Amino acid sequence: MRVLIVDDSSTMRRIIANTLKKLGYDDVVEAGDGTEGLQKVAQGKPGLILTDWNMPKMDGREFVKTLRTQSGMEAVPVLMVTTHAERTDVVLALQAGVNDYVVKPFTPETLKEKIEALLGKTAA
Ligand SMILES: [Mg+2]
Repeated sequence: MRVLIVDDSSTMRRIIANTLKKLGYDDVVEAGDGTEGLQKVAQGKPGLILTDWNMPKMDGREFVKTLRTQSGMEAVPVLMVTTHAERTDVVLALQAGVNDYVVKPFTPETLKEKIEALLGKTAA
């Protein structure tokens, strides 16, 4: 299953990609902002998307809003990984179409649990 990581921080993309690889996801595609994320989606539909909120050009909320209008992408699981931690922010993210939310900094275990919950797997 292809996994798309959208984050303007290459360090954060590497941390997330390494965690995904440990979980067995090797088909990982990266993008540096929302517009690049949409281009990657057009090149091959992912089965899971992890996206940052704050990014140049197109932020995570705009990215997910646009994504949800695209054929076949209405229900793809989207996990937002961000420093926004206020309840009002969570509501805004959910309104944009995000399925769940991880606040930075996070542990690999937290990310694993969120991903497995989103994909309907039991945490090992
Ligand atoms: Mg960012």
